[in-house]
Order: sequence, then structure tokens, then C-alpha cells
Amino acid sequence: MQHTFGRRCRLPYEVSLMRAIQVPQFGGPEVLKLVDLADPQPGPQQVVVRLHAIGVNPVDTYIRSGIYGERPLPYVPGTDAAGEILQVGSEVSTWKVGDRCYLNGSLTGTYAQQALCNLNQIQPLPEKITYQQGAALYVPYSTAYRALFQRGAARPGQWVLIHGASGGVGLAATQWARAHGLQIIGTAGTEEGLRSVREQGAHHAINHRQEGYRQQIGELTRGQGPDLILEMLANVNLQHDLDLLAKYGTIVVIGNRGSLEFNPRATMGKDANIHGMSLFNTPSPQMEEIQAAIVAGLQAGFLNPVIGQEFPLEEAAAAHAAVLEPGALGKIVLIS
Ligand code: NAP
Repeated sequence: MQHTFGRRCRLPYEVSLMRAIQVPQFGGPEVLKLVDLADPQPGPQQVVVRLHAIGVNPVDTYIRSGIYGERPLPYVPGTDAAGEILQVGSEVSTWKVGDRCYLNGSLTGTYAQQALCNLNQIQPLPEKITYQQGAALYVPYSTAYRALFQRGAARPGQWVLIHGASGGVGLAATQWARAHGLQIIGTAGTEEGLRSVREQGAHHAINHRQEGYRQQIGELTRGQGPDLILEMLANVNLQHDLDLLAKYGTIVVIGNRGSLEFNPRATMGKDANIHGMSLFNTPSPQMEEIQAAIVAGLQAGFLNPVIGQEFPLEEAAAAHAAVLEPGALGKIVLIS
């Protein structure tokens, strides 16, 4: 399939160029640079995807700032995106040019017009799901699934507190939890966020910036507390979560931005389980399970990503600033 966005550059041989965002050095959002890079070429069992929308995750900003340690520079950020197959390798028979897909990672980074992928990094994108929604799937929906079901062992009928339900991961977790018959309390910090949390299936939406909101959670669960807490800001909430948690309950730490003074005694009286998680530790078989569950949920209709803000690819720096602002409302995506 001929594509029209590339440009040709006069070298001894012809190279077609795509636009991409690169991180040449670690630092603030201003280090993100728009560059021209050679179009990727697929190996026999690889594909090149023309990306139409790209998901921006908080982790992209942590990696860019250098706090996640060394990685080779320069690099193209991003793991999440959606688009259509542009080229297939000589041994690929399961995908054809023009097929719609979402990415769960890539070999070349997703803040670009194209990405090179192994076959286990692409999943089919149903027609009714937009490319923007497809770009909201990988990290948020995989994290939500892993936290709820693989780390949190959620079961129908349990009370779950989604502590930070208005963002990419929280709304995904709300949709999953609702479809699986949990009783959901979701928190947000703005009226719009609370509305969205309710719309996506929470039985109760509570403002985590309001004095006394934790007491409301205790009352809603008739003093028992939630069986499961998905925590998006553990350095602020972990000690309080333990106070709220039901006996034998589980807290899954998804997000954390600092440290706290912590009294482990609270874990003893309740036989509490505290599970950390990083999506990038997920073993391959469990990742395959997650992607199969996402595709099934999209087809069945109970997964339906919510898009908050859209930025053109060249405004990636503004998107990186926005993703750390309070007042989350679904997913931030770049349009390439
Ligand atoms: P996001 O879209 O920016 O959402 C952040 C959420 O945290 C919003 O719902 C926000 O609510 C909420 N929040 C803010 N202050 C809070 C507080 N005091 N108590 C509880 N919640 C609060 O980010 P995301 O993509 O959903 O990710 C959420 C967190 O998980 C981030 O820290 C991210 O880095 C992390 N994460 C971890 C993994 C992993 O593998 N462990 C994977 C993905 C994400 P308001 O803005 O409405 O106040």
C-alpha cells in the first residue's frame, strides 16, 4: 500500500522518512524533539504499522526524565498506539496490509508515524473502536486487568475501591470490574471526573479531595471496608487504605510518587495482602491472557475507552505536561 505522508531524501540511495518524537537526552518535556527518521522495514516475521493515534502514559514522562535509570539515547518513546498494517514481512500470513490493530508495545517506539512490531505486539482492533480508543488500550487496560484479576484475584460480589478511578487505568478498571459483577466505589478529584466514573459503571463515586471521604467509604461498605483496593497514589493513601480495608482484603499498588511513614501493624490485624505490580513484569502467558481478554471485551462491548484530550504528534511536550496535571478525565492521545 502506498502511503503519502513519507518524504524522500537525496542520499546515495532513496530513503523514505517518517516523522517521530525523539528523546535525545533525559530531562523535562522540552527535551522531546520532532525529527525525521527512516521508515522501518519489516523482517520476515514482523509488520510495520501506520500509527494514527498514540497513547500517552505517565510512565513515558518518568522514563523521559531519567528516573527509571539508564537506557540508550536517543530513543522514540511510547508503547501504546493504534493504526493499520502498512507492510508485512515475507513470512507473515495472519495479517494483511490495511488491517486495523492496536499495539501492545513495539520494537521502535510509538511516538511516530510508523512502528515496527513483532507479531505478538499487535492485536485486532474492532471496527467500532476508534484509533484514539485503540491507543488507550495497552497500558491502561492491561494494568487494570492485571491488578484486578491476576494480582487482586477479584471475584463477583466483592467490594472494590478504585482509588483514582478517573484516569486511564481507573476508568478501565471500572469497566472491567462492572462487567465482572463487583460492587465499585471509584474516586476522582473533580466533578467531571466523578461523572465519568459513574458513567463508566461505578456504583458510587467519591471525591478524594473532600474532607472525610474515607468515612463515606466505610459507611458504604457497612463498616466492613472494601475487599480489594486498587491504589493509584500509594505514597498518599497506603496507610489509610489499610485502615479501610476489609479483613483478609488485598491492596494492589499500581501508582506511587514518593515515600511515606508506614506502620506495618495495620497489616497484621487484618491479615492484609499488599501486592505491588509493574505491568512490564507480566510473564508472557499472562500477557497473552490479558490481550485476549481485552479483544473479547471490546467485541462484547463492555470495554469502551474514554478519551480525554488529543494533541498533534508535534505537541508531545504539551501532552507530557498534561498527563501529570490533576483533574484526569480518561486518556490523553497524540494524533500522528
Ligand atoms: P492518570 O490518567 O493521570 O490518572 C491518575 C489518577 O489518579 C486520576 O484518577 C487522579 O484523579 C487520581 N488521583 C489523584 N490524586 C489522587 C489521590 N490523592 N488519591 C487517589 N487518586 C488520586 O494516570 P493513569 O494512567 O491512570 O495511571 C495512574 C497511576 O498508575 C500513575 O501513577 C501511573 O504512573 C501508574 N501506573 C502504573 C502501572 C504499573 O504497571 N504499576 C501501569 C500504569 C500506570 P484526579 O485527577 O481526578 O484527582
